[in-house]
Amino acid sequence: MQVEQVLPEAGVPVLHNGPGKRLEYRINFWSEQAKELYGKKIYRVAVSLNTPCPNRTHGGCNFCLQDSFAPEFRGIPIGEQLRLSIAKIAKNAPEEHGFIAYFQDETIGASDYSTLDKAIKEALSIPKVLGIIVSTRPDHCDDDFLRIIKKHNAYLELGMQTIHPQSLLFLNRNHTHEHTVDALQRIDKHGLKTGVHLIIGIPGESIGDMLETIQFVNRNSVITDVKFHNLVAFENTPISRLNNHLPDIDEYIETLLVLLPQLTNRVTISRLFTSNILKSEIALNITGEKKVWLNKLLKRIYETGVFQGGKNLV
Ligand code: SF4
Repeated sequence: MQVEQVLPEAGVPVLHNGPGKRLEYRINFWSEQAKELYGKKIYRVAVSLNTPCPNRTHGGCNFCLQDSFAPEFRGIPIGEQLRLSIAKIAKNAPEEHGFIAYFQDETIGASDYSTLDKAIKEALSIPKVLGIIVSTRPDHCDDDFLRIIKKHNAYLELGMQTIHPQSLLFLNRNHTHEHTVDALQRIDKHGLKTGVHLIIGIPGESIGDMLETIQFVNRNSVITDVKFHNLVAFENTPISRLNNHLPDIDEYIETLLVLLPQLTNRVTISRLFTSNILKSEIALNITGEKKVWLNKLLKRIYETGVFQGGKNLV
């Protein structure tokens, strides 16, 4: 069996190697790290705490599709949500597996903290739930919130999106880059680590601007994971009514090929594309499903010889 060798530049650690062509030989995926850590395949199971995002009172982010998270879960106890989802996944999961409860709905840092505390406890009491991930906005990441995260040994995700103020304004995020810097410092002070969400393809951002965001990630050791999102204009969202050019999937993949070599492979990547576009959804700049996009990316990665951290800027 032929083994493909990935040869990074001197000083850059080799990622996983093995037979055939696989994205995980070129990209440091969170899912692979989790498998190594827990000794089994790990699924993230999204749960809803039913906390409205505070940015909705300011119109919400212009790309946000509130119902993209399963609305049928809202108001259902966390334990029940997990039992329902886990039963569905377990039916088709061939290998030994475990679950991470993923509190990602809306802005979890804006929730009532004692409700959050109880919900995390409930999640951890469900068999096979091995850990917790909680996502929040940079302006909803205070010390009391972080104490709960630490108490449960949970992992954080921060909706940073970009370092550029004009892009945060364009997206109607209603937080600043200073909020992100402040949140990262506070997370560090509590001895925690975090992932960051990044949006690629924001109108007005050049490749150079995106690389500056990547450099920011490289420089901040408190950031240990990146979740990439391609900007999608779902029908009836504010961004779909603007005339800006948004990258289609091919343009997005070509941008990833430029950014990935510059992103340190010290960080894992937990997502490369936004979710599948569901049958009930219409997105103006994108169609199709993740499996097809990942195959396109795989093909282009091997054609171009790209791997994460191949040309780390820092
Ligand atoms: S912060 Fe998140 S949940 Fe809130 S409006 Fe923006 S994308 Fe939607």
